[in-house]
Amino acid sequence: MDQQEKTIEDMGEFGFIRSIMNNCLHSPEDVIQGIGDDCAVMGPLDGKVLLFTTDLLIEDRHFLKEKSSPFELGWKAIAVSLSDIAAMGGRARHAFVSLAIPSHTKIAFLNKLYEGMKSLCRRYGVNLLGGDTSSSPGGLFINVAAMGEMAEEEVLYRKGASPGDLIYVTGSLGGSAAGLKLLKGELSCREEIGKVLLALHNHPEPRLKPGRLIAESRAASAMIDVSDGLLSDLGHICDASHAGARIFMELLPVSGELTTLCRGRSLDPRDLSLHGGEDYELLFTVPPKNRQLIEETMEFSQACPFTRVGEMTKEKGVRVVTKDGAEEEERASRGFDHFLSGDG
Ligand code: ADP
Ligand code: MG
Repeated sequence: MDQQEKTIEDMGEFGFIRSIMNNCLHSPEDVIQGIGDDCAVMGPLDGKVLLFTTDLLIEDRHFLKEKSSPFELGWKAIAVSLSDIAAMGGRARHAFVSLAIPSHTKIAFLNKLYEGMKSLCRRYGVNLLGGDTSSSPGGLFINVAAMGEMAEEEVLYRKGASPGDLIYVTGSLGGSAAGLKLLKGELSCREEIGKVLLALHNHPEPRLKPGRLIAESRAASAMIDVSDGLLSDLGHICDASHAGARIFMELLPVSGELTTLCRGRSLDPRDLSLHGGEDYELLFTVPPKNRQLIEETMEFSQACPFTRVGEMTKEKGVRVVTKDGAEEEERASRGFDHFLSGDG
């Protein structure tokens, strides 16, 4: 295809990001990691590195303004960025919020939005230090940039995994994707089940404490947060680490609520947990010799549930092993890509 005619849809989100990675560093002295991980890493200064990340949330693409409360929207906007800091193992420090606001937006809505943001910032001792405000010709845009810090030798990159490393995830997977289906009215269920799944979608908890714990233990080799779906994000670890992975379907942590929701429907909870996005759980790899150390550290702290779900392999690509032992190769692009997968 003629390069001039190519659209972003032809390339996809991740192809586009790869294409802009050249010629970005013009003063590289203290840049440790630029484009290509959950945060940029800069420094060190006094043995500590600075983590920096920014995320953009757009009305009708990342959130449905009429379907969730402004408080939850504010909470989630901060959570998404703090989750990227958690994914490196860092401590979150500061945030900047930029908004593009349609002129008819009520001040009461914006006040609630900031209540949600400040509530999560308070929980993790994060300062809200600035941002920018503009009017929007269509839809609400929310950008949150977040800064964190940590000891240089504790940073967990996507590129650190080796064949044979065990793969773990925190919490459970697929609940947020199910919550989104409920929110859109594609499904309905008993109120107490719906409440839990909607909360997973609207009110995610950034895994900052477990992230710090995993990094401090020095037992893990790589980490990422599950924002686009387990297989997609594991794909990023595989690409960056020049390795492949095998995931055991039977080991996937699926919450009781999700299992109940799927029962009697043509929905497979394991499919949602492999492909559904926005779980904001941590996916991390651990060399087998550190298995006892990581498991004891996590169990002792009781920071959150965690599950071993697979292993890194020498052979490239991500494969899913079913109950009967059959292995299926997964296409890397099946996870969420803003331009390739259509809706979002
Ligand atoms: P995440 O899902 O963890 O937020 P992304 O997939 O959005 O990560 O981004 C992957 C990497 O690409 C990150 O290093 C991010 O900073 C970088 N990146 C994404 N979009 C752009 C852009 N438009 N310009 C420069 N870097 C970008
Ligand atoms: Mg991330």
